[in-house]
Amino acid sequence: MTKVGIVGLGIMGGPMASNLLKAGFDVIGFDVVPASLERLAGEGGTKAVSAAQAAAESDVVITMLPNHPQVEAVALGEGGVLDSAKPGTLYIDMSSIRPETARRLAEVGAERGVRVLDAPVSGGEKGAIDGVLSIMVGGAAEDFAAAQPIFDVLGRTIVHVGPAGAGQTVKAANQLVVGGTYALVAEAIVLLEASGIDAGVGLDVLAGGLAGSRILELKRKSMVARQFAPGFRIDLHHKDMGIILDASRDAGVALPVGNLVAALIASARAQGYGQLDHSALLRVAENLSGKGDA
Ligand code: NAD
Repeated sequence: MTKVGIVGLGIMGGPMASNLLKAGFDVIGFDVVPASLERLAGEGGTKAVSAAQAAAESDVVITMLPNHPQVEAVALGEGGVLDSAKPGTLYIDMSSIRPETARRLAEVGAERGVRVLDAPVSGGEKGAIDGVLSIMVGGAAEDFAAAQPIFDVLGRTIVHVGPAGAGQTVKAANQLVVGGTYALVAEAIVLLEASGIDAGVGLDVLAGGLAGSRILELKRKSMVARQFAPGFRIDLHHKDMGIILDASRDAGVALPVGNLVAALIASARAQGYGQLDHSALLRVAENLSGKGDA
């Protein structure tokens, strides 16, 4: 049986571990939050005392951590994942981080005989729970093929998009579109409500036409009801906007709308909404028009 180590059992990593257990994989997990480890053990998984133990005892190791500093500390540090994994181990970082770190992980992995993929995801908490994530994968084709049985449990749209780091660049493009869509749906709600129209009814029509999107499908009701429990936190989207803007500089391109969306998300954070779902961009849109609580 393939043994899978997972480091980072949060909103995304927790349900991913559950799905791997349900699919019959032997799962050993580590997180700095003890409650997450207890939940894993309650579902039949094994608690590791460190990322190093999870890596050393696994055939496949996954990290699902907030950002590149955590991934670098867990993977590159002394006694970290790449230091502890057996040669031949497949290491898949599924966090959303800068492409530069993904390329570094692949280089260090190659020096140690560990096969490395960057495989960030889209689809949110619900996608993780339902095992229907979109997974964009960077790395060698043969390593992608070896990881397929794991990806099949976690996702539905699974695409090898290029060499090391490419998965992260595609994820950056994904977050650009998601952030921009939220910003515009928020403005649509502000416009509808200020015009005396029931925003829920208005968005029902939009959802069925050319303006339709997964965001309108999944989030319009909770946005109109001002329910902003995460989901995907503004703080994490702020991190992703930084990755997008860095990537645009590296590629030598201008992203004017992306820069504006980055400023709106930074404003959400500055106004104290960092721990709310990114649909709370609605708060920024209504505050700008003097319609909110700020
Ligand atoms: P989260 O904060 O809920 O989970 C991260 C987990 O990592 C936490 O449980 C935390 O305790 C743990 N952790 C942090 N440092 C650690 C360390 N040194 N060792 C072990 N564990 C450590 O975040 P999340 O929402 O699960 O997101 C994880 C990644 O997935 C992020 O990069 C995010 O951008 C990306 N992502 C999230 C979503 C979403 O909807 N939440 C969707 C797609 C992608």
